[in-house]
Amino acid sequence: MSLEFAGRVGRIPVYPVALSYSFSGELAKLASNETPFGPHPKVLEAIREALGTLNRYPDPAKSALRARIADRLEVPAGRVAVGNGSCELLLAAADALLEPGAEMVYAWPSFSVYPQLAAQSGARALEVPLDADYRHDLEAMAREVTVATRLVLVCNPNNPTGTALPLAEIDAFVGSLPRQVAVILDEAYIEFSTLQDPDESIQLLKKHSNLIILRTFSKVYGLAGLRAGYAVGSEDFRVAVDRVRQPFSVSTLAQAGAAEAIRHVDDLERRVERTAIERLHVEDELDSRGLASADSEANFSWVALGDRDEDAIVTALADRGVLVRGGKGLGAEGFFRVTYGTRDENDRFLRALDEIL
Ligand code: PMP
Repeated sequence: MSLEFAGRVGRIPVYPVALSYSFSGELAKLASNETPFGPHPKVLEAIREALGTLNRYPDPAKSALRARIADRLEVPAGRVAVGNGSCELLLAAADALLEPGAEMVYAWPSFSVYPQLAAQSGARALEVPLDADYRHDLEAMAREVTVATRLVLVCNPNNPTGTALPLAEIDAFVGSLPRQVAVILDEAYIEFSTLQDPDESIQLLKKHSNLIILRTFSKVYGLAGLRAGYAVGSEDFRVAVDRVRQPFSVSTLAQAGAAEAIRHVDDLERRVERTAIERLHVEDELDSRGLASADSEANFSWVALGDRDEDAIVTALADRGVLVRGGKGLGAEGFFRVTYGTRDENDRFLRALDEIL
């Protein structure tokens, strides 16, 4: 006899993983929106220093890291929630806000974890298609908000399309929604956007008590393996997500590394600049091959394949050691998403594409 699981387990979509990491040659890992830049040396030093304390549990209040984030963003530390990656905070937000009978609204395709929030909580998911330019259609999203809506997600820049909206449009959208509806503005890639300074979004928190800004150390900071992210919203929100999670979810090493990482803003600027150069290079090269890509403000491109066979192309790239993510697993067939790596990796991707097409 097999085990009897809760009904919701069957409803939770399986997170799409990149193709095999056990490929024998050297891989160009362009499938997971990581950055090719390693962690800052001072971050590694802070982590090494923390190693000697691993016989102790981590600080459950994450006080030092929250204080650093609060100082950097000029917000009270009581409004900063820290998570085991920003993903943990998304799942905790679902736990804290959603239940059967409740509704959540998000654009689609967008971050592949969003459907899980509804599936695990029993809430109803309203997926609003992106517009013709692969951007969030905020008007259409606003139309889906009802008295049952508890949560609206806006991913800016959007994963997997890379497209971003001007902050003024998001500001007006949040202002148009009822105050009891939580809006999570997922800014995992905001540092890469040329449309705004990341600090500008933080100013919106003063205007909108229902706004929660979600950020991560996994992308521009180059710390995806460490698992640290944060949310800035109301103190109520922070208390609620802390309540639904286990007390020690963010490791000592993650707290120490992230607290150091946030001090190196100069290094971020260098990373953002190098990413912007690669973005132009990849976009130009795709364009010259007649492949249209969405207007990216992130560290990846969403490439339209037209009538070409998505699976065949993604597999043929993987056969050449270049890992990209097929659109089918991300919510739209006939596309792939390619993350910008080093110049060498990007050129390897382009050469492989030439062989295949
Ligand atoms: N939000 C978006 C839009 C993402 O793309 C990702 C990672 N792919 C996350 C959140 C979660 O990142 P992490 O848990 O590593 O902070």
